[in-house]
Amino acid sequence: MKPRILIVEDEPGIADTLQYALRTDGFEPEWCATGEEALLRIRETAPALVILDVGLPDASGFEIFKRVRETSDVPVVFLTARSDEIDRVVGLELGADDYIAKPFSPRELVARVRSVLRRTAKASAAAPAVAAPAAAGGPIVVDEGRMQVRYYGRALELSRYEFGLLKTLASRPGHVFTREALLDRVWGDDSDSMDRTVDAHVKTLRAKMKVIAPQLDPIRTLRGSGYALVEDLPARIG
Ligand code: CA
Repeated sequence: MKPRILIVEDEPGIADTLQYALRTDGFEPEWCATGEEALLRIRETAPALVILDVGLPDASGFEIFKRVRETSDVPVVFLTARSDEIDRVVGLELGADDYIAKPFSPRELVARVRSVLRRTAKASAAAPAVAAPAAAGGPIVVDEGRMQVRYYGRALELSRYEFGLLKTLASRPGHVFTREALLDRVWGDDSDSMDRTVDAHVKTLRAKMKVIAPQLDPIRTLRGSGYALVEDLPARIG
C-alpha cells in the first residue's frame, strides 16, 4: 500500500509540484487548500504524514497543527517561507517533525518525507521494550518504555526529539556531545537536518526543565562544540 500524504497548501502551483514529486516517488498524495478541510481529511483518511503550509487562507498552519495534535500523532512537516526564519523555530518549538523552506527542490521534499516516516516508524517500533524503573532516584530518570523523563520526580512533557536529546545527554553526564553527534543519534540518518535544529530543540528542552527547577541550568553549552549534561546536579531541589 502506498503511504498517503496529505498536502495542505493554498497555492495550486506548489501543490501540483508536490503532488507530482510524491507520486513519482511512490506516495499517494492528496491535496487540500484550507485548514478546516485538512482537519476533516486527517480525521477521515488518516494520512501517513501531513505537509502543512504555514500561510493558509483560513488559519495559520500553527493553529491547525495544534488542533491536529489534540487528536492525532500524525507526523507533520511544515512548509515555510524562506525569508521568515521565525516560522521555522516556532514550527519546531510546537513539536512539528520537520520543516521545509520555500522555495524547495522536490527531491529535497521527498527525502524529508521519507526520513520523517522512517524516524516515526522506528520510534513506534521501539515502543514497549523493558521499561526502566521509573521510581528509581536521581534528578533525571529516563523511562525508555514510556518515552518519558522525570526531572526531580516530575514528568517532562517532551516532543520526541527533546526526549531523544535528553536521553542521549543523560546517558553520559559530563560528556560533550557535538551537534553532529546529536543529529546523528536523535535525528538518525536525516542528513538534511541542521545544527540549528539541535539548538532550537535544546532551547525548548531547557525552558521545560526550567519550569521545574528555575535555579538550575542542567545543560551546558560548549561554544563551537556542543552540549553536555551537568554532572553534579543536586540530588534534590528545595
Ligand atoms: Ca500559503
